[in-house]
Amino acid sequence: MSPTSELWKLNTLDSAQAYLASPGNNVRLQNYIGNEFSEHSNPDSWIESLNPRTGEVIANLPRSDASDVARAVDAASQAFPSWSKTSRQARSDILLRIAAIIHEEKETFAVWESLDQGKTLSRARVEVDRAISNFRYFATYILHEEGSARFVDGQPSTLTYEHRSPIGVFALISPWNMPLYLLTWKIAPCIAFGCTGVAKPSEVTSITAFLLGEVFRQAQLPPGVMNIVFGDGPGAGSTLVKSPLVRGVSFTGGTKTGISIRRDTVEDIGKHLSLELGGKNPTLVFDDVDLDQAVPIAAQAAFENSGQICLCGSRIYVHRAIYEKFISALVDYVQQHYRCGETVGPVVSRPHYDKIRSYLLQAQSEKAAFLTGDVPSEAPTGGYWIEPTVLTDLGTDSIVMHEEIFGPVVTVSAFDTEEEAIKLANDNPNGLASVLLTKDGSRMRRVGERIDAGLVWVNCWLVRELGTAFGGMKASGTGREGGAHSRDVFTNLRTLHVR
Ligand code: NAD
Repeated sequence: MSPTSELWKLNTLDSAQAYLASPGNNVRLQNYIGNEFSEHSNPDSWIESLNPRTGEVIANLPRSDASDVARAVDAASQAFPSWSKTSRQARSDILLRIAAIIHEEKETFAVWESLDQGKTLSRARVEVDRAISNFRYFATYILHEEGSARFVDGQPSTLTYEHRSPIGVFALISPWNMPLYLLTWKIAPCIAFGCTGVAKPSEVTSITAFLLGEVFRQAQLPPGVMNIVFGDGPGAGSTLVKSPLVRGVSFTGGTKTGISIRRDTVEDIGKHLSLELGGKNPTLVFDDVDLDQAVPIAAQAAFENSGQICLCGSRIYVHRAIYEKFISALVDYVQQHYRCGETVGPVVSRPHYDKIRSYLLQAQSEKAAFLTGDVPSEAPTGGYWIEPTVLTDLGTDSIVMHEEIFGPVVTVSAFDTEEEAIKLANDNPNGLASVLLTKDGSRMRRVGERIDAGLVWVNCWLVRELGTAFGGMKASGTGREGGAHSRDVFTNLRTLHVR
């Protein structure tokens, strides 16, 4: 019997919460290696993961050590020669089966994602749908690729073409904010393009990755093609990244961790790195907008998933001509639409709560105006709740305006000219995403093409098309993923000239 069996039956919030409310009941995870769940090597070494709504233990996960990681990497290595030669059609069929099983169990995934991460059930459902799309997209992408073959100019008997081959074993490491969605954004292209891998989800939110292992088993993904090890970053994560058998790393997480990974791999020059890191994203609001259209976009960009999306717009800059009106409309909108316990979940963990609180204390010490929200209690009881917080009156040099807080906190300031707006937006080490709110068509391009951000949304936010590039500039990372960009991450390219 699969160790996940109990979880599949608990596919409503009520039933899962009732299960967790019984003393001693929580989820006990096992690593998934070579298509089997197995105990980790040190039976005394576990990580407790807490339920953000209650502060109680929701899961115990293996603190995997170097021998567990080595076992998973060996399994992936042994699977690679055969998987890399498996036909695209056969790989596609398996990916579609994986998508179909997740689709059938959509609600179970959403319920556990919501409980584990703290996100609302409706937000969790959106992310599960996106995880399904990740598998469907790459399953079909690999069937429709176009070739590059042509005769060399002036040499009709010499054919040239680009040939791609899967790189090998990948480490796939993901953060806690969109656990299933971000992990599948790596797993789906990795196996679609013929690589094998070891996934290491965040130790803060590992439950849906555990369920995913069972999906792989049911979909008959050959043994070792994708393995999942649970554990912490400095232990399992770092060991995995450093393994000489691992030929590529696809990492999403914080910039500091990205730096560690780069440092840990610097000697292994041929190891491929794709790093998707943090953001401190600007939203620019120009004076030609309709407030009833602009305010909901700016608010959603700030507070979706309690501000815990790398793409959240946490710095709003508004043209001075509409500044007062915008602020008043934003405060009304936030008070009406973003309520803790209804549309806003708790933040993910106690350390993260403390981190966000420290920025709010800093804002308080700098005499910021709290238009909504307040500094939360030093000793939270019954979960990690932080009110959506709108701050103004901070100086442009404040660290609250410059560092990623990754919580339900937004700052609002005024600008006078388009040039100043661009300067303020770009005055940050990060360059992940941005939002422009304007009706002026030429400004959309004029400003959009000068913002230091890998993603620019004009009059919208969080719109994704899986074929276009996703990724950041500056400290927000290197490399791009999505469509052909993901193919570039997971394949080696050689050019042949054949006479
Ligand atoms: P984190 O960097 O602390 O952890 C991310 C993952 O890396 C976890 O699985 C962790 O165990 C692992 N890890 C930690 N140290 C490691 C090491 N030395 N070697 C290998 N692995 C290690 O990030 P987090 O707190 O889980 O997530 C929040 C961060 O992720 C924010 O900065 C956010 O902006 C960023 N993020 C970026 C994107 C993006 O697409 N650019 C998307 C989501 C989140």
